[in-house]
Amino acid sequence: MNDWYLGIDLGGSNISAALMDSHGRMRQLKKIKTLAHEGKAQVISRLVELARAVPQEANLKTQNLRAIGLGVPGIIDVPNGVVLYSPNLPGWTRVPIRRALQTALKKPIMIDNDANVAAYGEKWLGAGREVENLVVYTLGTGVGGGIIVEGNIFHGHNHAAGELGHVTILPDGPRCACGNHGCVEALVSGTAIARVAREALKKSSDSLIYELCGRIPDDVTAKHVFQAARKGDALANKIVTQTGQYLGIAVANTINLLNPELVIIGGGVSGAGELLLRPVRAEVKKRALKDSLAATKIVVAQLGDQAGVIGAAGIAMLAKLSRNSNPKRRRTA
Ligand SMILES: [Zn+2]
Repeated sequence: MNDWYLGIDLGGSNISAALMDSHGRMRQLKKIKTLAHEGKAQVISRLVELARAVPQEANLKTQNLRAIGLGVPGIIDVPNGVVLYSPNLPGWTRVPIRRALQTALKKPIMIDNDANVAAYGEKWLGAGREVENLVVYTLGTGVGGGIIVEGNIFHGHNHAAGELGHVTILPDGPRCACGNHGCVEALVSGTAIARVAREALKKSSDSLIYELCGRIPDDVTAKHVFQAARKGDALANKIVTQTGQYLGIAVANTINLLNPELVIIGGGVSGAGELLLRPVRAEVKKRALKDSLAATKIVVAQLGDQAGVIGAAGIAMLAKLSRNSNPKRRRTA
């Protein structure tokens, strides 16, 4: 009889859950709306409902569900299972989510930051399989990051490590959601790419991007930019190259800092593939130290938007391994 783990990815818009076994086979994937505006008590009861529904729908016996893992956007106190703060979930400050779920579901629960969890997913079953030291950039509306050191998520002193999106690349660059200027997120996120395109289109509509966004610059998305770049549009290619250069500076810094074996680029923006990676690699080559660079590959993520649920099931296995140990030492299990 297999042991099963439930991975849950709690996002600002959707909650996804999947059952996985320890070999990485997935069974039953379900997605519901978060409805974050209804408040944290409602979101927690929807989490509990979902965590009950998915094993039931798979006809799984309760005793075969060993543990539950949860990825949450924001700063997470991992050893204590507390969401300290979440920018995407209004009202979530110091929420003891593990205790709440454990009381309702009577299973060992492991929680972590969503980008850390997605990175762990890529390490377990995605582009980072069999790699022990890797870094994952998740480029979407914002830029998330996860650092895996010797097979484990690196949390830092105060649980806030791996915020790769808020490393400064351009001192006087555009303002970031965090308040700083010129962060990676303010330069290479989908939002940033769309902003650059919008500003350019307002000056001149001489670009395929203008047609793709229905001639309404305010509707332009990063996807339009990449589509136009593929068709050889000059403005689009200029924006993609510039984005790749900024990301390349960030990746080169990360390579010099951590000497990882692999840098994985994931999230919606990574759908651009080689179009984006080419300028990234060119910039990294200029900036990273030779010895580190020779050992590091830069690749696109493999799990798409399932990295979160898969990684969450992955960290659930750690909950099982360490459920009787001192919670402060969980991560070393
Ligand atoms: Zn920032």
